[in-house]
Amino acid sequence: MLESYWAGQASAEELQTRAAELRAVRWQTQRDASIDQIPSNDFSLYDHVLDLSLSLGAVPDRFEPLLGASELDLMFAMARGTKVGGKEIAALEMTKWFDTNYHYLVPELSPRQQFQLSSLKPVEEFREALALGIQTRPVVLGPVSYLRLAKATEPGFSLLSLLDRLLPAYADLLTGLAAAGAKWVQLDEPCLAQDAPVELLEAVEAAYSFLRRRVPALKLLVASYFAGLGANLEAALMLPIDALHLDLVRGAADLEPALELAPDGLALSLGLVDGRNIWSLDPEPALRAIDLAVSKLGHERVLVAPSCSLIHVPVSLSGEDRLQPEIRDWLAFAHEKLTEVAVLAGSTGDPASAGLTLDRLRKVAELRRRSALRADPAVQQRVAAVGPADLRRPGDLGERRRRARLDMGLPLLPTTTIGSFPQRPELRQARARLRRGEIDQDAYHQLMRDEVRRVITFQEEAGLDVLVHGEPERNDMVEYFAERLRGIATSKGGWVQSYGSRCTKPPVIFGDVSRAEPMTVFWSSFAQSLTPKPVKGILTGPVTILQWSFPREDVPRSQTCVQIALALRDEVADLEQAGIRIIQIDEPALREAMPLRRAEQPGYLRWAIDGFRLAAAGAGEGVQIHTHMCYAEFGDIMEAIGELEADALYIEAARSGMELLRSFAAVGYASEVGPGLYDIHSPVVPTQAEMADRLRAAARVIAPERLWANPDCGLKTRRWSEVEPALRNLVAAAREVSGELAAAPIGSL
Ligand code: GLN
Ligand code: ZN
Repeated sequence: MLESYWAGQASAEELQTRAAELRAVRWQTQRDASIDQIPSNDFSLYDHVLDLSLSLGAVPDRFEPLLGASELDLMFAMARGTKVGGKEIAALEMTKWFDTNYHYLVPELSPRQQFQLSSLKPVEEFREALALGIQTRPVVLGPVSYLRLAKATEPGFSLLSLLDRLLPAYADLLTGLAAAGAKWVQLDEPCLAQDAPVELLEAVEAAYSFLRRRVPALKLLVASYFAGLGANLEAALMLPIDALHLDLVRGAADLEPALELAPDGLALSLGLVDGRNIWSLDPEPALRAIDLAVSKLGHERVLVAPSCSLIHVPVSLSGEDRLQPEIRDWLAFAHEKLTEVAVLAGSTGDPASAGLTLDRLRKVAELRRRSALRADPAVQQRVAAVGPADLRRPGDLGERRRRARLDMGLPLLPTTTIGSFPQRPELRQARARLRRGEIDQDAYHQLMRDEVRRVITFQEEAGLDVLVHGEPERNDMVEYFAERLRGIATSKGGWVQSYGSRCTKPPVIFGDVSRAEPMTVFWSSFAQSLTPKPVKGILTGPVTILQWSFPREDVPRSQTCVQIALALRDEVADLEQAGIRIIQIDEPALREAMPLRRAEQPGYLRWAIDGFRLAAAGAGEGVQIHTHMCYAEFGDIMEAIGELEADALYIEAARSGMELLRSFAAVGYASEVGPGLYDIHSPVVPTQAEMADRLRAAARVIAPERLWANPDCGLKTRRWSEVEPALRNLVAAAREVSGELAAAPIGSL
C-alpha cells in the first residue's frame, strides 16, 4: 500500500484508512491475548523517530519548499528525498537503531534549533484506540535518547544543550495526551543501556523532573532495552517516574539490585519475554524472577512485558508450514509472545488454560535442549581445529593490490557496483512460481541465466570496469545462503521491518552450520564466461549471516560465526578454483552487531574480525578479497575494519557527504576504498556533476590510485529505469575526474 501511494496508485485517504485498519487489528489482537497495558503510537508509516521529528517541528531548512505540502508528503520527502522544481532535496540520513537491523531517520539539529509541538500523531492515535474502547499507553521516544540519536548540523555544539528548548515541546505533547484521557505514557530511553557519561545521566534526571512538574497527573514509565542498565541502574531508579522497564533478557543481572534499590511507589516492568529472538519462552527462570519481584514489591508494583518492542520479531507463527515441525514447535513470534506475556503475568483470566500453556512451554524448552537436530560432531571437530594460521592470507596487502590492478588492467578510478541489480517483478514471480511447482528448476534457471546475461551486457555497454552477475537468483542476501546451509531454517512469512516498506525474513539458526555444496559458484562462473572483464564473486559474510538471522542460544554467537566462516571459506576456495579473481564478502552488519556496552566490544570485534578473516583466507594470493559495509556509524570501528585486511572496501558515504573518509585517512587505512557516490535508497537519479563532485572530494582525502567509483549499496530495490541512467552518469563522472587527475595530479598520499 505504501509503495502504491508513492507510485501515485493509491490516495492519501486509502493509505490512512488502511493504516487505521492495521492499528485496530493490532490493538484487538493484544486485547484478545489479555494484555492489560496496550501500547499506541507504536505504529508508523515509515519510522517512529521521523514521526517524532515531525511532531516536534524538527524539520531541516532544506525541506522548506515542502512546508505547504501535506504532512504525509513532507514526511516521505524527509524519508526518501525528493525533487522540487528540478532541485534535489536530500533525504535525512538513515542509520541503524542500536544493534538491530531496523533503520531510523536521523534527526538533524542545529545550534539554533527550535522545537514546537507540530503534529499530534500520538494524541490522534490514542484517541483512535479509545474510540475502539481501548485505553492505550502511548509510547514516545524519550527526550534524551532523541537528542542522543540526532546529528548536529554543525560541529562544536553539544546536542544535549538543546534539552531546555526541547522539553517544553515534550511537555505540550504529554499534556495533550493527558487531556485526551491517557493515564500512562511510556517514554523510551534506550540510551540508558549504553555507557553514559555523567552529563547524560544529569540530563535524564533534569528531563524527567521537568516533565513530572509539567504533567503531574500523568503516570510515566521509562523504558530501556537491548542491554542491562548496569551502572546506570541506580540513576534510573531514582527518576521521578512511576515505573521503570528493564530488559531482563539481556540484563538479567539488573533484577536483584533493582528490587533492592527501587524507591517506594516505583513499579518495575519486567522485560522477560525476548523481543529480539524467536525461541519460545523457557518459563522457569521467568517465573522465578516474577516471584522474587512480587515478594519484594507486591503485585501492584510488578508488570510483565516483552524485553523490548516486538517490531524486531515476525508477527505470527500461524501459516508457517514450511518449517520442519520439530523446529516450528521451538518458536514464538510476536503473537505467541503476547500469550507468553499474559501467561507469565497470570492475566489470561483462565488459569486452567494458562497452566496448560506453561506446561507446554516447559516441555518445549526441554525437547529443544535435548534435540538431536542441534549438534553435528564433524562441524565441531573442524571448529576445534581452527588455528591462527588459518586466519592469514598469503602475500602482502600492497603487493596483492598493485599486482591485481595490473593483471586486470584496471584504470584509475575503476567503476563497479555492489552486487545486486533490480529484482524485476518477473524474477520474484518466477521464484514464487517455482515454489508453487508451476515451473520447474530448469525453466527457472533459464530465466535467471537470461537475467545474468542481460546484466552483463548492460554493464559492458555502460562501460563499467569490474562487473557483477547481478544476484537475480537471490531472494535475499542472507536467506539465499541460509537456504543452502545446514543448521539454518527459513520461514515462509517471518518478515521483520528493516526500513520504510522494506522487510527481511531473518532465517533461524537452530544447529551447527555447514555447507552441503557450492552455493554461488555456478552463477559467478557463468557470468564470468560471458565477458573478458573481471566479474566479482559476491558472498555474504559470516557476521552478517549471523546478525541478520535469529541465532541459537545454546552456543555463543562467536561459535556459530566460526561455523559459518568455515562454510564460506570453502565457497571462497571454490570460486577461486572456478577462475574468479575478485571475491567480495559483504559485511554490512559488522558494526550493527557490536554490543552496546563498551566493555563487551573488544571481545566481539575479535571474533567478528577473525570470522571474516577465516572465510577470506580460503583464497590464494592471486585473488582480491573485497568487502562492503553500509548504513551505520563506522567511526568507532575503523581499526577493526583495517584488521579485516580486505584488499578493497566499498562503503556507503553519499548521505553523509564523504565525511567518513576523513576517518579512514586518520587511521591510515591502507586498502582501496570505494566511497558510495549515490544514495540507492532514493528514487532520484544522481547527475554526473553531483557524483563527480563527490569523487573529487574523496580524492582529496584518499589517494586517487586507491579509489573506486561505485554506488552506496546494492541496486535491487531500484528500477532499471533509474539504475541505467544512474550508472551511466557514474561511469561518466569517474572518467571526468580521472581525466582531471591525469592532467593535474593532486598531491597523492
Ligand atoms: N551484495 C549485496 C547487494 O548488492 C549487498 C547488499 C547490502 O549491503 N545490504 O545487494
Ligand atoms: Zn550495502
